[in-house]
Amino acid sequence: MAPSDDLLALYQQVILDHSRHPRNQGKLEGTGCLHARGHNPACGDEVDVWIQVGPQGQVEDIKFEGQGCAISQASASLMTLKLQGTSLDTARALLADFHALLSGQGQVQHEDALGELRALEGVQKFPQRLRCATLASKAVEQLLAASPAQHAIQEHPGSPSAL
Ligand code: ZN
Repeated sequence: MAPSDDLLALYQQVILDHSRHPRNQGKLEGTGCLHARGHNPACGDEVDVWIQVGPQGQVEDIKFEGQGCAISQASASLMTLKLQGTSLDTARALLADFHALLSGQGQVQHEDALGELRALEGVQKFPQRLRCATLASKAVEQLLAASPAQHAIQEHPGSPSAL
């Protein structure tokens, strides 16, 4: 279903706000900190995302730094707000839904759960901007596909009361 004109105007405001005032900017350092990097040469967008995974396997903290077009930076900012505090499984599900929504491919399971990330669904009409809108989220999706399970196991060798 195509968003109404009112909704599109609201979406534009959300994107502008986040591109001008990105949330969760900065770096994370230390052991157990995951890092993902996205680069979109077509547009010149760059984004670095850091995730601190907590003892329960949740996104304890998430920050990003980047430069590039408004869409790439707004989507990174919105994503960090959405993933903050979620379990890694929830983060994976949110990112899969986000990518399904924007690409128009695949099933969106819980569209409401995406919240303000839905402000980016307009890029569906502009395939060349899809890369901008999913630069940070694709980088994090790949990162979570590669490392979280091993990470959780290392944090808890054998017993849940390892701390
Ligand atoms: Zn871009």
